Amino acid sequence: MFNTIKAIAKSKHTDTPFIVRNLVNKGLNKAITKALKYKETLVLYKGISLLDNETPIMIVMSGFTKDSSNVKTGGLVQLYILPVHETPKDTYFGTYKKGGIVPSRLSVCGDCKYNGNNGCYVRWATLGSIWKAAKDQPAIPTTLTREFLKGLRVRVGAAGDPAAVPASVWNKILGSCENFTGYTHQWNKPQFQNLQDLFVASVDNARENEKARALGWSTFFVTDNEEEAKNEGIRCLASAGKSDTHGLPTTCATCMLCNGQSRKQKTITEVLHGATNTQHKARIARTA
Ligand code: SF4
Repeated sequence: MFNTIKAIAKSKHTDTPFIVRNLVNKGLNKAITKALKYKETLVLYKGISLLDNETPIMIVMSGFTKDSSNVKTGGLVQLYILPVHETPKDTYFGTYKKGGIVPSRLSVCGDCKYNGNNGCYVRWATLGSIWKAAKDQPAIPTTLTREFLKGLRVRVGAAGDPAAVPASVWNKILGSCENFTGYTHQWNKPQFQNLQDLFVASVDNARENEKARALGWSTFFVTDNEEEAKNEGIRCLASAGKSDTHGLPTTCATCMLCNGQSRKQKTITEVLHGATNTQHKARIARTA
């Protein structure tokens, strides 16, 4: 079996154009997954959250055998940071009362102002099937993770904040991918400054943007309106309707601006968006 996987993995592309590499490598990942009788949702890591230092959490990977249906992110492999023992819905909405247990809200999103049903753009209630598929799985070996991610582009934090996981784990897991995006709301805490080289800081007003930049972060600034977004930094290329080099609409997978690895500090802007009631809650949370 090991030889079969090695043979399949030998065909991986690392330097062809993204559009080809993505298609070929995901097809080869599918073959490896089948050979190992794996699911197409896998656990890459299990450990205790660094955000509350007590809750077991996990990194869950999807979109590594085929593209996700997210039209904005495009063909990125999706990594979710989820609690192991509570459903994502219960964690976000805080509704789990059985046995008097209160969900550990801090575990995957920390003190983000949108946490706790306050306007997060992630649709936590839809993550039940991913969580269910993952919760009882052991983490796969890191060598295999690196094989799966070889040459691909990755979205860290399709749900959850990467600060819940040690930077050393991210460095190992992401070592073979071609590029990745990721955002943290924990940029203001001294213990998470080591994530500056990996991710961008999520900020929600000009004061936060200034502060995060002064600490050395590149930032992703969610503004109240379009005018502010145009004035405060580089408008998110997908939302600005820019085309990629093939004349196709830009997606995160073809853009990849939102990573912290570039030495050149940047501010990328996006206007607050989402369903009307989610936006309403978010606007209240932003001004609280
Ligand atoms: S700037 Fe690029 S990578 Fe960042 S959110 Fe927009 S399209 Fe995605």
